[in-house]
Amino acid sequence: MKKLLDNQVALITGASSGIGYGVAKALAEAGAAVVLNYHSHAEAAEQLAEEITRAGGAAIAVQADVSDPAQVNAMFDACRARFDTVDIVVANSGLQKDSAFADMTLQDWQTVLATNLTGQFLTSQAAVREFRRRGPRPVSKALGKLICMSSVHEVIPWAGHVNYAASKGGIQMFMKSLAQEVAPERIRVNSIAPGAIRTPINKDAWDTDAALEKLLRLIPYGRVGETDDIGKAAVWLASDESDYVVGTTLFVDGGMTLYPGFADNG
Ligand code: NAD
Repeated sequence: MKKLLDNQVALITGASSGIGYGVAKALAEAGAAVVLNYHSHAEAAEQLAEEITRAGGAAIAVQADVSDPAQVNAMFDACRARFDTVDIVVANSGLQKDSAFADMTLQDWQTVLATNLTGQFLTSQAAVREFRRRGPRPVSKALGKLICMSSVHEVIPWAGHVNYAASKGGIQMFMKSLAQEVAPERIRVNSIAPGAIRTPINKDAWDTDAALEKLLRLIPYGRVGETDDIGKAAVWLASDESDYVVGTTLFVDGGMTLYPGFADNG
């Protein structure tokens, strides 16, 4: 049976955990060969690559720190060496280093910006260069598809997390400006903005009953998101089913951006 992403190659950064892991799995299930980038958890990425291969797909795991240009280039070289090119790139890697503003160290500010914003810049630049080098392929209407992993915090301010919120606010205009620049070449750039998805990054927010109850007050739809929710959105955004979707942020957040505090008259 024909699948949505048959004969395409996808590279996902931060695929050893959480959303990246879920997105990689979903893209592979949709027929794409996948390059699973990991930073520190080799086993999880290698295990997923093995699982995908056993199921009849194609996958490799590649180590790289996305904040380092040489490592990002080496990651794309490894992708070309195995699969010749890439059609879909998901710039997903991200982290938090939370603290009250006056106590935030310059190191914590720079680490978050280096991964969440510069990491997406480097990954996206390598992707655009590869799409251009390779030229059109009959596997998709677009020359290439780039998905930036943003957050509801590209629009929702977040006290105690100014570094993270600044990085995601930055991604909003990064994505739109890049989408405007490369759309004439039929490169589609979009973002996914997850709400609260059950992953290690926000474990404190859902792993006790009290924390979960507090979190659910922020989610009109009444449940925490799962990585699968993001995986399905990524498959659609990466496929020709969304061919006319350009420069858009797709919020997958159970309504978190609907100002739930105003639901009972504010
Ligand atoms: P996670 O901690 O499970 O995964 C983050 C991934 O990024 C890990 O695989 C980690 O190894 C990788 N990473 C970190 N620094 C890296 C570096 N320098 N180079 C390469 N990889 C690096 O968290 P997650 O929730 O899966 O987060 C994935 C993305 O989704 C992040 O960009 C995050 O901001 C975003 N996001 C998550 C949520 C949520 O609720 N979980 C909500 C909104 C946005």
